[in-house]
Amino acid sequence: MNKRELFLRHVAQTSPAPIGLEIVKAKGSTLVDAAGKKYLDLIAGISVCNVGHRHPKVVKAIKNQVDDYMHLLVYGEMIETPQVQYAKWLTDYLPPTLNSVYFTNSGAEATEGAMKLAKRVTNRTQIIAFNKSYHGSTQGALSIMGDEYWRNAFRPLLPDVLHLEYDAFESLEHITNQTACVIAETIQAERGVVAPSPQWMTALEKKCRETGTLLVLDEIQAGFGRTGTLWGFEQFNVVPDIVLLGKALGGGMPLGAFVADKKIMQVFTENPVLGHITTFGGHPVCCAAGLAALKVLLKDEIIAQVAHKAALFVEMLQHPLIKKVRSNGLLIAVEFESFEINKKVIDGCLQQGLLTDWFLFAPECMRIAPPLTISAKEIKKAIKTMLQVLDTLK
Ligand code: PLP
Repeated sequence: MNKRELFLRHVAQTSPAPIGLEIVKAKGSTLVDAAGKKYLDLIAGISVCNVGHRHPKVVKAIKNQVDDYMHLLVYGEMIETPQVQYAKWLTDYLPPTLNSVYFTNSGAEATEGAMKLAKRVTNRTQIIAFNKSYHGSTQGALSIMGDEYWRNAFRPLLPDVLHLEYDAFESLEHITNQTACVIAETIQAERGVVAPSPQWMTALEKKCRETGTLLVLDEIQAGFGRTGTLWGFEQFNVVPDIVLLGKALGGGMPLGAFVADKKIMQVFTENPVLGHITTFGGHPVCCAAGLAALKVLLKDEIIAQVAHKAALFVEMLQHPLIKKVRSNGLLIAVEFESFEINKKVIDGCLQQGLLTDWFLFAPECMRIAPPLTISAKEIKKAIKTMLQVLDTLK
């Protein structure tokens, strides 16, 4: 059996048509397959590799940590230097009320932890989320996912969840003193990059404060400079009670986190004690990698260049087949008339050595979310290829 057959047979599949590339090396914005063909990565492992694949400083941090220790004990018992240092750096760059970090293995687990925390802190059960939002695939996170097609097959899910329209002022009327928390993506990524109006975000924060509801903002995809600021919520002048982090948080290693005020987070220590447990959450190697990546992101002024790089895509991606280009920094959706056209473009790009993707709730939109370190030269090359592929479809 060749490797592709083994992959299809023994590696559990969730799609009838996986991309199925065998990548043997990755560096910066480039992937190399087993035949030596190079691909320009325009999706960064779905908003993960913000400082590029295998940044030397991230690789060095991982190697150094492996030389000292790997797993020691379940989360939160030992003083693990990479965890402590990373929590300190993260909280230094977050508003003062977001000062306590609970590290998890993934974004979905960060969502789960935040939901539990909100219920425990408020003594309420209702959770409000928004249509076309994605917060993870585990049962709790799935319960608040904003699309019935994916939820339906797995019912019963969590009770007392209300889905409302994002960026709609009428939605806010449903937030009451029965609501434990409202969970929202700062920018709805999987809907095809949809940002709310600043007025709505402000009104959402106000309504949460008035009703004693915790505001949970999901920055798992929008965080770490992707939208042109370190955190997406900075653009809206709001401060969440809990922020969800993941994806780029680990610099290419698996890591998630939910961050809140110590006063809130403290409830996990009693009644019941060990209110949220994880064996591997905040793994020292992942924290070392994540901290190294954050330092690169900040020191190399990568975020300051995001707007200019995004503008290159938006300005140059003009073609009769492109309906619209929506961008929030380097989180970009290129909208076509249909999924069929989008699929042809994505397949054509892949053949030409360009890796793109679509969005879960917007199959007619092509995802462009490259490493933030992508160069202007690489961007221009990518756009040229895309336009050539589009010309073949006219
Ligand atoms: N929240 C958002 C906005 C996401 O985009 C994702 C993953 O795509 C998640 C949560 C879930 O993260 P994970 O896949 O690490 O569980």
